[in-house]
Amino acid sequence: MSSNVAAFMEQVKAKNSGEKEFHQAVQEVVESLMPFLDRHPVYREAKILERIVEPERVLMFRVPWVDDSGEIRVNRGFRIEMNSAIGPYKGGLRFHPTVNLGILKFLAFEQVFKNSLTTLPMGGGKGGSDFDPKGKSDMEVMRFCQAFMSELCRHIGPDTDVPAGDIGVGGREIGFMFGQYKKLRNEFTGVLTGKGLGWGGSLIRPEATGYGAVYFAAEMLGTRNESLQGKSCLVSGSGNVAQYTIEKLLDLGAKPMTISDSSGYIYDEAGIDREKLAFVLDLKNNRRGRVKEYADKYKTAVYSPLQSGSDHNPLWNHKAQCAFPSATQNEISGKDAQNLINNGIYVVSEGANMPSSPEAIKHFIDNKILYGPGKAANAGGVATSGLEMSQNSLRLSWSREEVDKRLHGIMKAIHTTCVTYGREGNYINYVNGANIGGFVKVADAMLDQGVV
Ligand code: NDP
Repeated sequence: MSSNVAAFMEQVKAKNSGEKEFHQAVQEVVESLMPFLDRHPVYREAKILERIVEPERVLMFRVPWVDDSGEIRVNRGFRIEMNSAIGPYKGGLRFHPTVNLGILKFLAFEQVFKNSLTTLPMGGGKGGSDFDPKGKSDMEVMRFCQAFMSELCRHIGPDTDVPAGDIGVGGREIGFMFGQYKKLRNEFTGVLTGKGLGWGGSLIRPEATGYGAVYFAAEMLGTRNESLQGKSCLVSGSGNVAQYTIEKLLDLGAKPMTISDSSGYIYDEAGIDREKLAFVLDLKNNRRGRVKEYADKYKTAVYSPLQSGSDHNPLWNHKAQCAFPSATQNEISGKDAQNLINNGIYVVSEGANMPSSPEAIKHFIDNKILYGPGKAANAGGVATSGLEMSQNSLRLSWSREEVDKRLHGIMKAIHTTCVTYGREGNYINYVNGANIGGFVKVADAMLDQGVV
C-alpha cells in the first residue's frame, strides 16, 4: 500500500470505526485512484476523495411490527444517501440479519461508481434492515414492509431517491412497500424499481443482473477471441442473480454446474439444464426451500453442507473455466482464489457485490485472469432499473427485446470504459478501469456543482 493510500485510510478508519466492509470497499477504490489523482491534481485540490467517502445523508430508524402470534418485534431500518452528483440516489434495499451500517455504507459507496458506469443519470444509495424474511409468513413480511415504508416514505421519491431490491427483497417485498408508499403519499409514481409488470415494472428487470454478468463475461472473453460456448461454469447463490446467470449461460451454450445457499452447495456434474433450473426457480421463489432438495431430486448432483469456520468454500474447488459468484460479500477467500486458479478458472464475473476478498483479487490480478469486479459486471441490474425509471417517466412499456438490447448495449459500454481506463500493456485491469471510469463522471459533476 502506498503511503498516500495508508494516510487516507487511517482517516477513513478513524472516522468510521468498526465498519470493516466499508473500509475494504474504500481502500480498493482509493488504491486505483491515487496514481490517477497524481496526474489530475484538480480533483485533489477540490477534496473530491474526502467528499466522496462521506455520505450526503444517513437515515437510521426504528421499525416496529407485530408477528403472527401477536408479539411485538423491533428491527432497525437504514437508508444511506451517498452521492447525488449525477442523479437521484439509486440502489437496493437488503433485508438480512447481518445488515448493519458498515455493510450498507460499503454497498452505497460501490453503488456510486457502478451507477456512473451505466451511462445513466443515477446517484448512489443503499438501504435495508436486519429483518430476516426467512421463515416468516407472507402476512408477517407484509406487516414488516409496511412498517419499514411508513418511515422511509418521507425520505424518498421519484426525483429524490429510488430504492430497488437486493438480498431478501424481491418482487413480493417491493409490492408490499410500493402499496404502502402509494397509500401514505396518495400518488402513483416510479418511486421503487423492480415493480410488477402490471403496475409499472420493466420486462427483463428480474433477469438483468444475471444476464448482465454473463454479457460482461462474454465481452471479457471477446478480448481473447473466445466465447462462452462449451465453457464449464461455477455459480454461487440460488437467488435472483444466480438464477438468471444460469439462464443466460444456457442461452450462450455454457454449462453451469453449481448453486448454493447459506446452508450448503450443489455440484451437478451433468450440468444444470433448463428443467433443473425451472425446479430451482420454483424451489426458491415459490416454495422458499433449501438447495439440498435439488440433490434429493437429481441423482447426478452432490450436496455438501456449509462448513462454518473453514478458510475456504469447496464450491470453488472444482474444475471449470468460469466463475460467477452471485451470493454475498467476501465469499471468495484468498485460498478459494488459489483453488479457482489451480482448477483452471480464468474468467471471474461478479454478480454479487464485493464477493472477492482483497487477497482473492490480488491472486486474480497477479495471475492475469479476466476478472470483472461487481461494480462493472453486475451493473446490469441497476442499469435496467434506470430503464424502468425512464419507462415510468414516459408512461410507456418497452418490449422484452428492446430492454434486453439496451441492457446488452450498456454492458458493452461499461466494458469499453473499463478497457479505456484499465489497460496495462496487454492486460486489462478491470478493477482500475471500473474505479477510475466510474469516478471521473461523478467527480467532474461535483467540480461543476461547487462545494455542496
Ligand atoms: P437473493 O436474496 O435473491 O439471493 C441471495 C442468495 O445468496 C441466496 O441463495 C442466499 O442464500 C445466498 N446468501 C445470502 N447471504 C449469504 C451468506 N451470508 N452466506 C451464504 N449464502 C448467502 O439476492 P440477490 O440474488 O438479489 O443478490 C445476490 C448478490 O448480488 C448480493 O451480493 C447483491 O448485493 C448482489 N446484487 C444484486 C442485484 C439485484 O438486482 N438483485 C444487483 C446487483 C448486485 P439463502 O437463501 O440461504 O439466504
